[in-house]
Amino acid sequence: MYRFSETGRCWRLVVIGGGSAAAVQVRQGDIPPQDTLVIADRLGTGMEFLGDSTLQSYADELRLSRYEETFQLGMTGRLRPSAAQFDAYVRESLLTSGATVKSARILEIEGETGKFLLHVLNGDGRISYERAEKVVLATGSNPRTPPPAWAEAGAVAHDVVHREHAVRRTDRWADRSVLVVGSGNSAMQVASLVAPDASEVVVLGNRYVGMFPIESADKYSWRAPSQLTCELVAKSALECGRPGWHTPCVRHLVYDRLDVRDGEVMWTYRAGDNENPLGSRSLSGRCRHARGRLINGGGSAWEESRRIEDTAVVWATGCEPVLPGGALVESLARNADGAILTDECGRTSVDGIHALGACAGQRAVNETVPALVRGRLPFPEFLSGRGLPVDTEVPA
Ligand SMILES: Cc1cc2nc3c(=O)[nH]c(=O)nc-3n(C[C@H](O)[C@H](O)[C@H](O)COP(=O)(O)OP(=O)(O)OC[C@H]3O[C@@H](n4cnc5c(N)ncnc54)[C@H](O)[C@@H]3O)c2cc1C
Repeated sequence: MYRFSETGRCWRLVVIGGGSAAAVQVRQGDIPPQDTLVIADRLGTGMEFLGDSTLQSYADELRLSRYEETFQLGMTGRLRPSAAQFDAYVRESLLTSGATVKSARILEIEGETGKFLLHVLNGDGRISYERAEKVVLATGSNPRTPPPAWAEAGAVAHDVVHREHAVRRTDRWADRSVLVVGSGNSAMQVASLVAPDASEVVVLGNRYVGMFPIESADKYSWRAPSQLTCELVAKSALECGRPGWHTPCVRHLVYDRLDVRDGEVMWTYRAGDNENPLGSRSLSGRCRHARGRLINGGGSAWEESRRIEDTAVVWATGCEPVLPGGALVESLARNADGAILTDECGRTSVDGIHALGACAGQRAVNETVPALVRGRLPFPEFLSGRGLPVDTEVPA
C-alpha cells in the first residue's frame, strides 16, 4: 500500500532527533536547512536531566555552529554552562536554523535510498508518514539500566538521582549506604550529589580511571566536576568518625566481584587492584564504615556486604543508543558497545541512512561531526560487503 506523506513532499533530508547532534547536522551539514525536516520527540539536549548542574565542557566546546555571529551560550565570567542553559541553547539553535521542525516520534523507517518512508507517531496519537531521500539518525543514548537482578533489588540508573536531586528529593539515599557502580565521570558526579545526605558512599569501579590530565591523558577520564569526589575520599579517609568530623564518608574501590543475593549486596576487592590515590585510602580498616572480612590468608583481599534494605544502589555504567524500530534500523552494523558504526561522513551500513552524535558513539558535543559532508571517501573496512559502493562521492 502506498502511504502519502502529509505534505506530499519528499524531503531531501530528514534528521531524527532534537539534541545537539541534530543541531550540528542542520547547522554544519552540507544539505541546506530549507530542504531539511527535523523530527524530534523532544527539543533540547539529552543531558537535560542534569538540570542546574554544571557541565564538564567549557562553553566554547559546546558551540553548535561555526557560523554563529553571536554565541548564545557565551556567559560572562563563567567557563562552563549548566545543563539547563545548554538545553535552552540547543532548542533555540534548532528553532532558528531555518529547518522545518516537527514534534513527533519516529516509530520505524522503511524503504531504500532516495525513497525512505518514516512512520511518525504524533502527539495526539495519530500515525502519519514522511518521505525522505536521506535520513540522519541523531537519536542519542540513554543511561544504561541496572541488570534485572539489581533492578529487582531496587537499583536505579544514575539519571534518576539527578532528576530527584533537581526537585530536592533525597529520600532514596538520605541516611543510607549508597553504592555507585561505575568508574567514569557519571559515577563520580553522582557520588558528590548524594554524599551530603547519605550515611556513606562507596564508588565501585571495574577500573581506576584517574584525573585528567594529572593521572591520565584521556580527556574522557575524570574532569573538574569529579574532583569533588576525589577530595571527599581523601578528606573522609582522614576524618570519618573522628571527634569533630564533618566530611561525608566517601570511598572509591576497584572491585573484584559484585553480587546481589539473599537481601544483601556484596563485593570483594584486593589491595593490589587499589594501589592508587583513592583506592589506597578506601581499603578495609580506614574508618568505621570500612569493615571488610578478610578472604585470603595474606591479608590483602576483603569482602564487604550491606543489607539491601539499608542501601541505595546507583548504576552509572555508561549509555546505550536510542534507535527507532523496524528491520532496516535493526540491520545497521554496530560496534561492541552497541553504537551504530559509521565512517567519517556518518555513512552507516545501509545506503542513505547516516548517523551522528551519541547513537553513533561520539562522546561529546565537540566530537560530533555532521554527516553527509562532501568528499571522496576511501571504502571503509568495516562496511565491506554491506552494500556500499567503493570510493563514492558523497552527494550533498
Ligand atoms: C552525565 C553526563 C554528562 C555529560 N556531560 C557532557 C559534557 O559536559 N559535554 C559534552 O560534550 N557531552 C557530555 N555528555 C555526553 C552528551 O550526552 C552527548 O555529547 C550529547 O548530549 C549527545 O547529543 P545527541 O544529540 O547525540 O543526543 P541527545 O542529546 O540525547 O538527543 C537525542 C534526541 O533524539 C530524540 N529522539 C530519540 N529517539 C527518537 C525517535 N524515535 N523519534 C524522534 N526523536 C527521537 C530525543 O528525544 C532527543 O531529542 C554527558 C553525558 C552524560 C550521561
